[in-house]
Amino acid sequence: MKIDVDREKCTGCGECRDICPKGPVIWKINGKAEASNLRYCHLCTLCASKCPLGAIKVIRDEINGEKEKIRT
Ligand code: SF4
Ligand code: SF4
Repeated sequence: MKIDVDREKCTGCGECRDICPKGPVIWKINGKAEASNLRYCHLCTLCASKCPLGAIKVIRDEINGEKEKIRT
C-alpha cells in the first residue's frame, strides 16, 4: 500500500496526524506531511477524509496489476 501526499496542496496543518489512530508513528509534519511506517496503517482512510485540502490518497496494494484508489 501507499499513501500519497500532494505536497503542492499540503499546508502542514497536522490534521492527518491528529486523526490517525497511529498519529505520530505514521505521520511526520515538517512544513509538509509525510507518512512512513505504513505497516502500522489500518487503511481506515480517516487521514484522507480529514485533510481539508484533499491532499491525501490512500492506495491499496496492487490488485490485478491496477492500483485501487480507495479515497481521494
Ligand atoms: S491534513 Fe492535509 S493539509 Fe493538513 S498536514 Fe495533513 S496532508 Fe497536509
Ligand atoms: S489510513 Fe488510517 S491508519 Fe492509515 S495513515 Fe490514514 S488515518 Fe492513519
